[in-house]
Amino acid sequence: MKLLRDVVLEITWSDNIQHQIPLEALRKSCPCASCREKRISEHTKKPSPDDALQVLSLAETVPLRIESMQPVGNYAYSIRFSDGHDTGIFTLEFLRKLGDIVAGESSENE
Ligand SMILES: [Zn+2]
Repeated sequence: MKLLRDVVLEITWSDNIQHQIPLEALRKSCPCASCREKRISEHTKKPSPDDALQVLSLAETVPLRIESMQPVGNYAYSIRFSDGHDTGIFTLEFLRKLGDIVAGESSENE
């Protein structure tokens, strides 16, 4: 597993499938409890005109990076993002599924 140009996480699986997962996608699908709750509340709230006028915060304008990746046992990685978020535990199974989704989306666009 390696970081490629700091914007995608490149994973080569034991069956020689290679995935390149954009860090933005990784961050947005963070499986920790607080991110899950945030996604659910964003999904259920009604869109309001104010949302479109919100100015991006500084953190959102800076390209996302991975500051560190620590193995958790032999089944997952704990990833610390440059926005300070580090509570997500990404299991290999989760990364594999995410990689499959990302790979499927990009091939549909070709
Ligand atoms: Zn999270």
